Amino acid sequence: MRSSTFSTLLQGVYFVVIGVIVVLLAKASFDSYVLNILMQAATYAIAVFGLSIVLGLCGQINLAQAAFFGIGAYAVALGTTDWGLPFWLCLIMGMVLAFVAGGAMGMSTLRLGGHYLAMVTISFQQIMTLVMVNAIDFSHGPDGVGNIARPSLFSTSQSYLAMSVAVLGLVGWIVWRLKTTKLGRAMRAVRDNELAAGVAGIDVFRTKMTAFAICALLGGLGGGLFAGGFAYVSPDQFSFAESVVFLTMTLLGGVASPIGSVIGTGLLILIPEWLRFLKSIPGLYLAIYGVAVILIVLFMPDGIWGFITKLFARKSPAPPVAEALTLSPGGSPDANDAVLEVSGLAKHFGGLKAVDGVHISVRRGSVHALIGPNGSGKTTTLNVLSGLYRATGGRVMLDGVDVTSLPPYRRTMVGLGRTFQNIRLFRSMSALENVIIGTERPGNTAVGRGHAAVEARALAALDFVGLAPRANELVTSFSYGHQRLIEIARALAGNPTLLLLDEPAAGLNSTEKRGLHDLLERIAAFGLTILIIDHDMTLVSEAADHITVLNFGRRIADGDPQSVLRDPQVVTAYLGADD
Ligand code: ADP
Ligand code: MG
Repeated sequence: MRSSTFSTLLQGVYFVVIGVIVVLLAKASFDSYVLNILMQAATYAIAVFGLSIVLGLCGQINLAQAAFFGIGAYAVALGTTDWGLPFWLCLIMGMVLAFVAGGAMGMSTLRLGGHYLAMVTISFQQIMTLVMVNAIDFSHGPDGVGNIARPSLFSTSQSYLAMSVAVLGLVGWIVWRLKTTKLGRAMRAVRDNELAAGVAGIDVFRTKMTAFAICALLGGLGGGLFAGGFAYVSPDQFSFAESVVFLTMTLLGGVASPIGSVIGTGLLILIPEWLRFLKSIPGLYLAIYGVAVILIVLFMPDGIWGFITKLFARKSPAPPVAEALTLSPGGSPDANDAVLEVSGLAKHFGGLKAVDGVHISVRRGSVHALIGPNGSGKTTTLNVLSGLYRATGGRVMLDGVDVTSLPPYRRTMVGLGRTFQNIRLFRSMSALENVIIGTERPGNTAVGRGHAAVEARALAALDFVGLAPRANELVTSFSYGHQRLIEIARALAGNPTLLLLDEPAAGLNSTEKRGLHDLLERIAAFGLTILIIDHDMTLVSEAADHITVLNFGRRIADGDPQSVLRDPQVVTAYLGADD
């Protein structure tokens, strides 16, 4: 069965199951204890879905989900009581408010990451709690808000619960699908390798901001439904402690799938209920609860659902037959036409002049080698060219565009593609998914519209490097040499105007090196412009049309291979580097 047919079938089954559950819930009559637990689980799980996006897909920490949950809850609470607005309008208002606040919080990721970002989210959480407690005229303070209205169509608890579960099912489906959309892939790329994501053409900042905003939106939705479900809200329900609970639910079930979120949420609501009989001994209940959570996280690092899916891991299906890869170099091959024009480029690290006033002109359709002893500034040059480092001085013109101060993804849009000296693949993804991200480079004119075209081109690129039969395998299962080829395929799939290769032969054995040499010749045959760093003199002298030599960050020679390699300064630099 084709994987797309299978996926359609699975989705059909999913909606039928959700539909049956919703109808059964609407017809059932639970006692209020069961109803409350299910209501809490359903609304919490929606907020946990949000966290599974920001943390699971995008790898960002958010310790303020209870605050966003509170924004949604208070919008419905105050809106339906004090302001007399309809329930649905209040629900949407709360979601919009949370979305905007989440996006604003995501903005801090521009300058902050890791622990600092965590602190910003905690601060936001505390501010929201202070507002809820102290803005008494507005929020009713610590007393909270009661008599919250439900929509007339779902006025009974039973029907309201059924409606909430329907929303949960719908959101779960969206979250499930998100992973394999362009946005979801971008989020996973950012999580796996932020630098490589930027270089592959992903706007890292906007991706993170979007993840935070969507996470907050789902928090607001869950909170709004919670308020209607319980008809009463108070500030302590949306405190920092609750944010930690949300985070634990997310990790406990496993971030990789919405099913994990539901399992985590359900367990963390149920465990305290199961341990209720211990309440007579103060503290014991909390201790057991804590130990249980720690044990689960310790022995199932991918969460409960991650653990289960690993037990039943299917062998990845073989991909369909690949088409031939096309590469269109663009522009007219003209002797004076430079794709890359670097002038006076400098990059200083404090007192160290890693790159110092370098000029490089790369002619369209040529293979241009950048060589030099270890530490001479080659990688640093490439990092400045691709925007990972900001130039201390000089100018970089790419295909007629001044890219000197553009972020990496914008340069990629103009037509830059690169590989890294220390391989940077998206490690949680398959080879094909890695190359799909390269194919999705904004500005890639070599690919048609629609996912099928994107996937076909990615497969063609993998086939070009000889790895199409293993397209669906995880990149970590490939050898070092093959990972390098996947990286090259990822760059090629984007049909770059200029391909930067940083020591592609490093770490390869002699057979792999020969294979790489052939590959480079096949790429060059398309007329693609290549700037390659390498140590291997035979490879360089055979493959390159033009060589630039660096030593101590300065250009010491530039010209055709024969004359450059005979240049006394170059010979001395290399002999000097050997001892
Ligand atoms: P190559 O690729 O030619 O071997 P590099 O460009 O990696 O050399 O390094 C050039 C010099 O810049 C080296 O002295 C290296 O230690 C230094 N360098 C590179 N990156 C950094 C950095 N991020 N911070 C400080 N120094 C750096
Ligand atoms: Mg290097």
